[in-house]
Amino acid sequence: MPLIIISGLPTSGKSTRAKQLHEYLSTRVADSKYRLHLISDESLSISRTVYDLSPDKVPAHTRSANASEKDARAAIYGAVKRVLSDKDIVILDGLNYIKGWRYQLHCESKAVRTPSCILQIGCAVDTAKKVNEERLRRKGAGGEGAVQDEDTPEDHDTGEAYEQGNWDNLVFRYEEPNPMTRWDSPLFTLIWEDDEQQTTKVFSDLWDAIAGEGRKVIKPNQ
Ligand code: ADP
Repeated sequence: MPLIIISGLPTSGKSTRAKQLHEYLSTRVADSKYRLHLISDESLSISRTVYDLSPDKVPAHTRSANASEKDARAAIYGAVKRVLSDKDIVILDGLNYIKGWRYQLHCESKAVRTPSCILQIGCAVDTAKKVNEERLRRKGAGGEGAVQDEDTPEDHDTGEAYEQGNWDNLVFRYEEPNPMTRWDSPLFTLIWEDDEQQTTKVFSDLWDAIAGEGRKVIKPNQ
């Protein structure tokens, strides 16, 4: 299973890029040996609140402030592991902000002798913040079921908001991928402003690295 780990700040456009990548790869895998999977917090019904470490936000019966995040990571790990094989490409859409977690995922893919890579979503903190604030505003205005009086593109954004403190904290805790390390390489980057042409180029380079002729042969001791 080539494993594509998406990483980026909260509300920086990760799911948008993950869906674009899924669409792009769907056409590439059509005449190849690969199957394609997209795993995300959303697909596993993991709420944004699991990342919230504020003592007053910890759900009742939860062992400690970060137990819910640990449980979420275990669920994600299980979902990735279930489809592990060298015939399955897995796009893992999520924050993936902890270096040790990315290392763990890299080791898991190495164990089944298949490559892993990182797709980092670059976005200015202010831009990402505005997206979350807009989601919070919408939630405050009545949540998902709210009646919308304008039919602008943003009104179709149904993503879940992070509470402000949770969002700030995740930005603070974010451990930037480092392409000098084995587990964060190869590293591909897309920024918010990248147009369709640049996006397709990055996706094509990524395909070459994990499934095309440029694919590295994985040896167990690498
Ligand atoms: P994340 O998965 O990081 O929380 P999303 O992919 O859900 O972020 O994107 C958040 C919002 O920003 C969505 O409304 C989406 O349409 C918008 N968005 C994402 N990427 C871009 C981009 N590159 N250019 C413009 N708008 C974008």
